[in-house]
Amino acid sequence: MKRSERKISSRANNISNADPIDKVQIYGAGTAGSFLYVLLKQSGFKVGIKDIRREPDCKCAWGIMYREANKIYKKIGIDLQDYVLAKPEYVITNKIEFKNKNVVIFDKKKLLEDVWKEIEFKEIEADILVDSTGHRRALLPAIKEDKIYPTIQTIEEHRAEENIYVYACKTGYAWAFPLGNNRWHVGAGDIDETKATELIKKLREEFEFRKDHEICKCKGKIRLLPPSKCKPFVSKNIVGIGEAIGCVSGLGEGNVPSLRSAEILCECLVNDELDKFESMIMDEFRWIEVEHKFIEAIQEGKRLTTLLLLPKVVAIESKRSAKLSIRGMRRLIKLLK
Ligand SMILES: Cc1cc2nc3c(=O)[nH]c(=O)nc-3n(C[C@H](O)[C@H](O)[C@H](O)COP(=O)(O)OP(=O)(O)OC[C@H]3O[C@@H](n4cnc5c(N)ncnc54)[C@H](O)[C@@H]3O)c2cc1C
Repeated sequence: MKRSERKISSRANNISNADPIDKVQIYGAGTAGSFLYVLLKQSGFKVGIKDIRREPDCKCAWGIMYREANKIYKKIGIDLQDYVLAKPEYVITNKIEFKNKNVVIFDKKKLLEDVWKEIEFKEIEADILVDSTGHRRALLPAIKEDKIYPTIQTIEEHRAEENIYVYACKTGYAWAFPLGNNRWHVGAGDIDETKATELIKKLREEFEFRKDHEICKCKGKIRLLPPSKCKPFVSKNIVGIGEAIGCVSGLGEGNVPSLRSAEILCECLVNDELDKFESMIMDEFRWIEVEHKFIEAIQEGKRLTTLLLLPKVVAIESKRSAKLSIRGMRRLIKLLK
């Protein structure tokens, strides 16, 4: 067994005489990896980072929970306010309106570009490797029954009120997110890519988003599995963070959870408590587990489970994103095809 492997497995087995981890190699400089890089550097670690891309990946609708993200990004000297493009007033799903509380649309690409300016991309001889390669999960063992949804997205110009517009069905949804200056992210994700295209059509009909000229178009992927189904988080000398270990909510929110998972890993490394990483992730993301169970219950037509979980989901999202109501959500669930 290599020295690095011995160190990490020693911690997993709670053996106290292993040397502390001080050299970390990160793979994937997306939301979680680039943030972890800066955090670890600030804490005095020797850090290497590598990405397969030449510029940051922007395949995201760019919605983020302002309060949580602002607090997190402050730790690396970033003021999220500098990147906010729009503060939508309502989240309108299948024509049902919910008051937005905390979702902003931010220029994720610009933010990541600014973080990348601080990064020296290189590989180092490290004690541990971090898998922050998102849905690819390039280093950790593959997940047996993985659930990767295809996504499509365009940037388009529209004159419409700056709300978040959603057309949802049981297996996915289409969205229109305002980017300011009449620009919009219009996209969809569904188990089936053809269905995603149909969902965008429905969204256009429902909210009168004509198919105007596209500024750009891309396809992506998102892992929609909770952390409990993405184990192991630690394997030999590899530790996962972000979407690689299922830090994405049942509704597809992955930005703050990915950042938070990086923060947790940094905390574990600083305190030399890597053995606590898995349980800390599970504790932190209990709410994600609930949301995935809720979505699964809707998809499988389990009415009772859906109704039992509904108040929990309403409480979670009313705190995190928009002011949901049980009545509104029950109406919405009835409309889902
Ligand atoms: C279309 C779409 C819309 C979304 N909209 C939202 C939204 O509005 N709000 C929200 O909160 N979440 C959203 N998400 C989810 C969110 O974008 C992700 O969950 C989040 O970015 C995950 O962060 P991450 O750092 O784990 O992975 P990523 O940000 O995906 O970063 C992974 C990085 O790893 C790199 N990489 C891949 N393979 C390798 C390799 N072998 N070696 C080195 N590097 C590698 C990639 O180039 C990339 O830079 C959306 C996702 C999609 C696909």
